Amino acid sequence: MPTVNPETKKSGKCIACGACVAGCISGALTIVPWDDVTAVAQEII
Ligand code: SF4
Repeated sequence: MPTVNPETKKSGKCIACGACVAGCISGALTIVPWDDVTAVAQEII
């Protein structure tokens, strides 16, 4: 469940719901599993 900061009226954490991916008309966004992100990061280090 995302939380919204009552002062800024903005969500502070992505919960990977995919709504921004579904609404991106250019197809520039994608959801990447966190394990894939950490695997690539470990290859770089
Ligand atoms: S996936 Fe996109 S729409 Fe969903 S919480 Fe994260 S940034 Fe927001």
